Amino acid sequence: MVWKRCFIFFGIVCFGIFLGNGKVECSDSRVVSCKNFPDRTVLLTFDDGPSSATKEVLDALKNENASAIFFIVGEKANEREGKKILKLIADSGHMIANHGYKHVTMTKLTEKEQISSLDKTNSCIKEFQKTVLYFRPPGGACNNILKRSVNSLGMKIMFWNVDPRDWKKNDCGARPSHSALKERILKGLEDQGHKGIVLLHDIHLNTALAVPMILDALKKNGYSFMKPEDVLKYQKASK
Ligand SMILES: [Zn+2]
Repeated sequence: MVWKRCFIFFGIVCFGIFLGNGKVECSDSRVVSCKNFPDRTVLLTFDDGPSSATKEVLDALKNENASAIFFIVGEKANEREGKKILKLIADSGHMIANHGYKHVTMTKLTEKEQISSLDKTNSCIKEFQKTVLYFRPPGGACNNILKRSVNSLGMKIMFWNVDPRDWKKNDCGARPSHSALKERILKGLEDQGHKGIVLLHDIHLNTALAVPMILDALKKNGYSFMKPEDVLKYQKASK
């Protein structure tokens, strides 16, 4: 009986790790996979903006000639400042993608509400970019209905497989140090076979200020940055 309990416990722990990493192990064509990315390639993604810290991220990316995907929240993009930042993102050659109109658990919405949220956000983005290719569900909460809604608007879902937990504060209320974020990303990529989609949040100034150190470490460890427009190329190869 003891071994049985151990086995169940081990199973629960494994499942917890699986969820915690937001790991992308999926053969669903509606979901983006990084499985066929070239070795030592990393796609940088920034969620929850636009915010005043986004500009810091853009400067850091420019210095290293790296590009990224920004999963934006529609209602923030609809504000005057938000629009300016979206324009900056697009003018800097990055990709803007959909993170819902409000930052809510999309699976709790009806299909009609989901489509409205996705569509309104796409309208904000399309002022600065021709098409919207990707949606990322807030909190990673997804099901078949949401996949269908996303798909019906011509988008694919993009999760992540490396999460340095830049949003999480410690017991003293401090966010992770820049070097902790860097180390978590390097370790996460190593665990994922040296390729991946990294989740960061450009609403936190701490994260934005860590980006130069992160980019430098990635380069020094032989990683190159996946261009957002090339992601689809590596989906077709997977079939
Ligand atoms: Zn989010």
